[in-house]
Amino acid sequence: MGEGGVGDRPRVSSLKPRLLLGPGPSHVPARVREAMARPTLGHLDPQFLALMDDVAQRLRALFGTVNRVTFPVSGTGSAGMEAALANVLEPGDTAIVGVAGAFGQRLSEMVTRMGARAVRVEAEWGRIVEPGALLEALGQHPEARLLAVVHAETSTGMRQPLEELGAALRGGETLFVVDAVTSLGGIPVEADGIGIDICYAGTQKCLSVPPGLAPITFSERALKRVRRRTRPVQSWYLDVTLIERYWGGERLYHHTAPINLMYALHEALVMVEEEGLENRFCRHNTVGIELHRALEERGFTLLAQEGYRLPQLTAVKLPGGREEAALRARLLDDYGIEIGGGLGPFKGTLWRIGLMGASCTRANVRRFLRATDELMGGGSG
Ligand SMILES: *Cc1c(COP(=O)(O)O)cnc(C)c1O
Repeated sequence: MGEGGVGDRPRVSSLKPRLLLGPGPSHVPARVREAMARPTLGHLDPQFLALMDDVAQRLRALFGTVNRVTFPVSGTGSAGMEAALANVLEPGDTAIVGVAGAFGQRLSEMVTRMGARAVRVEAEWGRIVEPGALLEALGQHPEARLLAVVHAETSTGMRQPLEELGAALRGGETLFVVDAVTSLGGIPVEADGIGIDICYAGTQKCLSVPPGLAPITFSERALKRVRRRTRPVQSWYLDVTLIERYWGGERLYHHTAPINLMYALHEALVMVEEEGLENRFCRHNTVGIELHRALEERGFTLLAQEGYRLPQLTAVKLPGGREEAALRARLLDDYGIEIGGGLGPFKGTLWRIGLMGASCTRANVRRFLRATDELMGGGSG
């Protein structure tokens, strides 16, 4: 043992827990953590294969789809994004992307890196991307391989309306791709009802599982497009035609599934079923709106356009243009509460408060407001 000993090196066992009220990860319930601590099985163990089938079935219910190809990508939400795009895009293709925040920007950057052309339809951060503007872009680019939007824009707290887009794209040649990373499990997604071809999510937002898996679903129309590619999917790891052979009947080894994370996801999906989807949406909605009102009473300004505000992610400007970073650091240090700051143009001027999954409780809202009131020098609460 060297000088200084091991005492000053970090150990996982001495990490202080935090109340996670940021843009993700959200609070992971003990049940999910305990599931994750179960003994690791082999990725071809019949017990594990049965668990995978049940995960897929539960994910279908959550996505509101009957799509056969529905599974969690081994990777975080961004891996889901990458898988959604890489499987259907080829160099030279055109993709229409709605951009009204950091995650729309990420989508558009991925499209470009794949050698495809991103037709960006932009909106001011906090506002929705007008469906009419997206469809106008489609009119100008009928060759577009896909049209992609972010359902819950976590950088601004905006909920993007999907119905009109889904209806317009149905039966055409352009696939509808939706980022549901922050929406799945928090607000209704209804992939089949809306007409989404590829929808992906993440586990650490409204599902309250540690980060590391990205549930995704592909419609038959999307799979047909994958089969018609002129060259193989550039990403071997994310190639759905290969992954499908492990998740489907063949059980052909592709990569070693993150076994223990799958346990966690399964347990969380059981918890979703126990609560009931409608109850879960209702909880997010009620608690989220309560936070919106309480913050407005205290002079905070909600960033997202009225009528399109997410209950599970609230982005607010501070009263009197106050600097946010120091206050946010004190929330963490003195109160053990984690929230997020602004991204991009809102760096330094925004708080982003997540009420996702297990983090979404009235008690957590009260604890956050009490701390905020003390920090801001006695609010109206
Ligand atoms: C968090 C998030 C992502 C990226 O997910 P990671 O798990 O951080 O890779 C993508 N899209 C949206 C809308 C998100 O909120």
